[in-house]
Amino acid sequence: MKYLTISILVLLGAVVLVSSCKDDEPCIETTWYEDADGDGLGNPDVSQSACDQPTDYVADNSDPDDASSSSPEGSTPIAAFDEFNPDAVTVSFDGNEITIESNGLPHHTSPYWATSNSLYIDPVVASVSEMSPGTINEGSYTVTVPASPKKASNTSATGLGAIGISVSGAPIFNDEEGPNISLSENVASGFDYAGGHMGPTGYHYHLESSDVTENTLLSHDDEKLVGILQDGFLIYGRKCNSTGDHPTDLDASGGHSSSTQHSDGEEFYHYHIINEFYIGSYILLFGVDLQGTPNTIM
Ligand SMILES: [Zn+2]
Ligand SMILES: [Zn+2]
Repeated sequence: MKYLTISILVLLGAVVLVSSCKDDEPCIETTWYEDADGDGLGNPDVSQSACDQPTDYVADNSDPDDASSSSPEGSTPIAAFDEFNPDAVTVSFDGNEITIESNGLPHHTSPYWATSNSLYIDPVVASVSEMSPGTINEGSYTVTVPASPKKASNTSATGLGAIGISVSGAPIFNDEEGPNISLSENVASGFDYAGGHMGPTGYHYHLESSDVTENTLLSHDDEKLVGILQDGFLIYGRKCNSTGDHPTDLDASGGHSSSTQHSDGEEFYHYHIINEFYIGSYILLFGVDLQGTPNTIM
């Protein structure tokens, strides 16, 4: 009996010893990287230290665009940036972000150029008496956007000033000429064929360009890229390359997900110029709310 008690105690002691030994087992923390898109490659920018592999984290850290394929909005196709005027626009890629810088000088003719400029032409659509004062001058527009922009939980109204950067390098404005002052037909009649005019901060577009022979660059009722808006989503002309026609599945912002001529069959979210007259026979570039999070254009 005594032996039995002793052996039970020894056994218990051994069990206690074994379990406490297990608790004190040294933990070697390693760094785990988030694998949001589930491709087995981790995001070098999102990590945590832990003994055990956390859910959705991997040891690998070689995925610079980890978020891309997990986002229903897709990634902005890099080929689209080849459309931007290289004399005005510089595009730089830094991991998950794209920075677009422009001097605001478009590479098309306009009566808003100084007469001494080689791109100056007499007005072809502008009513001279309604043209705004000033000539096109160098500016500075810079915006940094996500390479895989996402829709925000709420849409955002755009404000005065640049809401995007056009492929020409000139900034895109919305439908306002001042605080709560919408574009009028009089003001619009002073615009050049590019849909732009001068303002206190420089030359900018409000409208889709006109179908005139002088217009060789800008979108008019076609699939051309118009530019990029401040939430990082691209904006195309009234037609979509995915169907070759006016899209019929656009949301309230003129957006939808499809492939384009730049995306090699991949679907991604982008805007279109909405195929509706704004005032008279003028078509706005973008007069609705942004679906993504606006970044400041400095
Ligand atoms: Zn304006
Ligand atoms: Zn489209």
